[in-house]
Amino acid sequence: MQLQSTCPYCGVGCGVRVEGQTDLQISGDSEHPANYGRLCVKGSALAQTLGEQGRLLAPKVDGQTVSWPEAIDAVSSRLSAIVAEYGPASVAMYLSGQLLTEDYYVANKLMKGFIGSPHVDTNSRLCMASTVAGHKRAFGADIVPGCYADIELARCYILVGANMAWNHPVLFQRIQACKQQDPGRKIIVIDPRRSASCEGADLHLALKPGTDLLLFNGLLSFLAKENQLDHNFIKAHTEGFSEALASAQQQAGTIEQVALGCDLPPEQVDAFYRCFIDEPLTLTLFSQGVNQAQNGTDKVNAIINCHLATGRIGKAGRGPFSLTGQPNAMGGREVGGLANQLAAHMDYSQNADIELVRQFWQAPNICHQPGYKAVDLFEAVERGEIKAIWIMATNPVVSMPEANRVRAALEACPLVIVSDIVSHTDTIACADIVLPATGWSEKDGTVTNSERRISRQCTLLPAPGLARHDWQMICDVAKAMGFAEHFTYAGPAAIFAEHAALSAYQNSGQRAFDLSGLMHLTAQQYQDLAPVQWPVNHKYPKGASRLGADGQFYTPSGKARFIAVSQQQNAELAADHLLLNTGRIRDQWHSMTRTGRAASLLQHRAEPFLELHPVDAEQLGLIDGGLARLSNSLGQMDARVRLTEAQRSGECFVPIHWTEQFSSRGRCDVLVPALVDPVSGQPALKQAQVQINPLNLHWQVWLILKPELDELLWPLCRSSGYASKQKSAQTVLYHLQLAESDLATTADSGLDPTKLQLWLSALHIQPELSSQALSLGHYRAAAFEAEQLSCCVFISLQPLNLALEYLDQQFNKELSLNDRRQLLTGRSNSGEPQSAVICSCFQVREASICAAIREGCNSYQQLGQQLKCGTNCGSCIPELKALIASEITTQGQSL
Ligand code: SF4
Repeated sequence: MQLQSTCPYCGVGCGVRVEGQTDLQISGDSEHPANYGRLCVKGSALAQTLGEQGRLLAPKVDGQTVSWPEAIDAVSSRLSAIVAEYGPASVAMYLSGQLLTEDYYVANKLMKGFIGSPHVDTNSRLCMASTVAGHKRAFGADIVPGCYADIELARCYILVGANMAWNHPVLFQRIQACKQQDPGRKIIVIDPRRSASCEGADLHLALKPGTDLLLFNGLLSFLAKENQLDHNFIKAHTEGFSEALASAQQQAGTIEQVALGCDLPPEQVDAFYRCFIDEPLTLTLFSQGVNQAQNGTDKVNAIINCHLATGRIGKAGRGPFSLTGQPNAMGGREVGGLANQLAAHMDYSQNADIELVRQFWQAPNICHQPGYKAVDLFEAVERGEIKAIWIMATNPVVSMPEANRVRAALEACPLVIVSDIVSHTDTIACADIVLPATGWSEKDGTVTNSERRISRQCTLLPAPGLARHDWQMICDVAKAMGFAEHFTYAGPAAIFAEHAALSAYQNSGQRAFDLSGLMHLTAQQYQDLAPVQWPVNHKYPKGASRLGADGQFYTPSGKARFIAVSQQQNAELAADHLLLNTGRIRDQWHSMTRTGRAASLLQHRAEPFLELHPVDAEQLGLIDGGLARLSNSLGQMDARVRLTEAQRSGECFVPIHWTEQFSSRGRCDVLVPALVDPVSGQPALKQAQVQINPLNLHWQVWLILKPELDELLWPLCRSSGYASKQKSAQTVLYHLQLAESDLATTADSGLDPTKLQLWLSALHIQPELSSQALSLGHYRAAAFEAEQLSCCVFISLQPLNLALEYLDQQFNKELSLNDRRQLLTGRSNSGEPQSAVICSCFQVREASICAAIREGCNSYQQLGQQLKCGTNCGSCIPELKALIASEITTQGQSL
């Protein structure tokens, strides 16, 4: 039987088809309008992330495993006691764009209507809040005017602060396919880094970080100067144009002013502006590089201003397009999951809306004021004002700015409840009560993607252990707190029907979010719901592809608003500091609780890394492949150095994904100050300042072990020196780097036998087989259990090119004496040289790809024919193109 569902990662929201009952085969859904059959590397590896290993299988209260009735009783009685003593505003929820809309809806309803606390915020605050605020300012409602089908209709794509090739890969592939069909189409990338999205772009503006507002204000001025404004549209459908233009002209009246402020060549600015003028079918796609800034909301409005000025909005093939980061960031916005919202796109600004929601919910304790946004929320926890917090499906100890402060605040908080799918996260380590949640493939409900399209996520597998759906836990707690009448649902279909009915309640068109056409679905119709874009109502019975096409918006006047914005001075970079940019990588998702389980996804980037320009590296004494410590007054992060000219000098980049479950010191947000956009409250996650020093840990250690030993050994190994962890097919691999004092007496004396023995004993490793030349710093050993390999150790002063796949394959089988000897060499007889995996789908390594290029493959298509790389999900195609360009350049130089 074949079932349909939706990928749980990024905001593209790709449809998947699933076959099999226990061993699932997952492929792209050729009928889903988000992807038409495509999947990126993360979606393609979904089946590898399933299974019970590492899952949280039973509730725990104060470290003790308990039954569900005991867990619900502990949660509800402790919450009730805190509310009774300190009032409802002493409890909070911190939710997630990973939750389904139905989970989100009941959480929001319980807090804002029944417990009576407005302090419900979500990790979407870190990702989308500035876009929400920008949309509301411009359109009067949080609407995305366009749709994905505009990609095929557009002729110019402007990617702003969005590395779509890695973060929204399937949409990027759609753009690439259009470009391939018609090379006259233009791709312009606006990003300080030369990211993978720049491969094949017509123009890359590597602007100074944070100056995109100036660039778009310059574009507005230029449009006016060149008489390219749509005066009819401006007059009939907008307000505030003169003020916005005056503000833009003041700072960005000439190309030279813009070029100087953005640190760009004037001719590049000119080329961008002329391209915008020449090509009316323009989509401006933006994401975290725009949102995650102290002026994120203003940047969003600067982009929208240019589209309003040219009337390019809500029409086929044109418009500003916000790319949501998470699979259900949009669903969270719909139910009111942000602290400044109430429900169903209503907020606290009008008493009538508050009364409407109160009536609909029959709520005894409706909130009247906005609650704390994420940064303020955790500061209230720190102050002791919030005494209980329920965190669902997210990991704030990793992802919040000033993450060490957040951890300390949670450690001191009287009641921390965490619901999650895995047994260990950095946030669970602070929890008093841990609740096992169902994950993708077990859950059932809906999500909404970047284009307002609601799709079903369906149950494909039974819940493992005692795991429960988030909506069930929330409703059980609500019932135990005395609200049973309002939280008894037959299932997610009933919750969705109520959510849809609230959107329709007393809505005669003044609220954009309207699902009245879906409020009477039967359970079966809900089960079979085809992907549909809201609103779904009498005006748009089949959903609406575009909004604003009729020039009607949701402001009191019905007109869209220009917003006058101006570029603020960036903070001065302190002496000896680099500007730190943070972001996602191609093969990982958030804090790796799911993608970290897929061996193939840890081959592309296996450990936390730091990218910086070779000129900076030389000044700082850093080498490619060495270790670096990033630090500032807030914290420290350790990472492997990658030198790249794609990075501007004076700036650097680290990934957001690594946690203490996978690295010793890989959490980047410990370095990021809690500065927020004043309108949206979104933290500026891309503008920390750091000092960087080499981390001189000379002893390299590789430990390859069977997974059963991981829980015992990882806490021991990550506590000294540097450690990173990687899952392989059958084993777990630790790469450690230790100081002289851990293993040797002096720097050049080789391994000290006493210290080595102590180190092995501390890890409970008793080798049966070894190869050693301690004075030369050489030690290799293997330990066995019941004749099968349980662990092997390689220690060296030099990096070792171990054949990790071969070593992984030596576990779970009988080994002959010869096999055992071979094992200690760290190589198979005929192994492929070890290098980074570029194509995760077919595990094709960089060394093989470069060899094929040297032998004559000079296009990614030829590489695909020869090695299969890039022929499944296509996520690696930008890197294949970059390798071809770099190998050809190298060959040219050596001629
Ligand atoms: S682009 Fe990739 S991660 Fe995003 S929804 Fe599609 S398959 Fe999932």
